[in-house]
Amino acid sequence: MTLNKGCGNLLKGKYLIVLSLFLLVFNSQVYSQKIINVDSSLHSVLKHFSLFPTVSYPGDAVLVRSITDGVVEFNETKYRLAKKGAEYLAVLPISIDQQTGVQEVLLYPSELNDPPDSGKCQEYLSAKITIEEKAFSTQYLEVTEDQQAMIQNEEEIAKDRQKFLYSIANPTINALFTDSFIKPLDGRITTKFGFTRYINGVLDSRHMAIDIAAAEGTPIFAPNSGRVVLAEYLYLSGNRVIIDHGMGLFSSFSHLSALNVQAGDSVARGEILGNVGSTGFSTGPHLHHAIYVHGYSVNPEQFYSLMR
Ligand SMILES: [Zn+2]
Repeated sequence: MTLNKGCGNLLKGKYLIVLSLFLLVFNSQVYSQKIINVDSSLHSVLKHFSLFPTVSYPGDAVLVRSITDGVVEFNETKYRLAKKGAEYLAVLPISIDQQTGVQEVLLYPSELNDPPDSGKCQEYLSAKITIEEKAFSTQYLEVTEDQQAMIQNEEEIAKDRQKFLYSIANPTINALFTDSFIKPLDGRITTKFGFTRYINGVLDSRHMAIDIAAAEGTPIFAPNSGRVVLAEYLYLSGNRVIIDHGMGLFSSFSHLSALNVQAGDSVARGEILGNVGSTGFSTGPHLHHAIYVHGYSVNPEQFYSLMR
């Protein structure tokens, strides 16, 4: 890990490369990105900026931990750290379409920097994560004609999508939880995250969630405390609940037999949201469970092992 100082981060992508080359050739003094001497108080910052895991996969999430407040940059997107207990955290989404290879994560500690809009050079720490390739399987699902007609109703599906996007449009910046995440129910995972799905032989979509089989009526628990941002019957999802946990983290629960909560409710970890059902587009009782990190669907299985 290194401590760097530079203005380069204010520019993006190819423009940065072009400009850097230009300045290297014509005036190496103008653009500088150098490792600076680290005084003793900053050694502790360096020591306490960590990524977990450092080897990740498309569709997973990475936890950033820091003892100092600040902003984290990954994939040209900046995420504010949120205070949780004595430390500051951010969860980074690794898109399922993320290119493999080594990626840099930058931390801009607030104590070292003027506000990002000040126009001044920003000091940052950097660390690397390696994204490795992951193979996702294919699932072939047979459904009735009525069900097939259902997934062709683009108007209703677009309405669902709008409601979903609206529900996650204003995430709470700070953590609404203090504990670890618990699984919403115990059960066998029948469809894993990231499966490519064919329905009646036709390519449908990627399964950006997990399906957990459980008997009709099995209670579904809130995996952590938060605020309910959606609790209603949607066309494909059936009875659905979405919880905002803060820090850009949302959990989603579909096909419930009935709803136990309302939009706007604060829920505690372990509170019953509803029960396993088969409402909406579903072939039998199960929980379709998704986790969203800053708008990206991530693998709930990996998320729970990361945030426990
Ligand atoms: Zn599902």
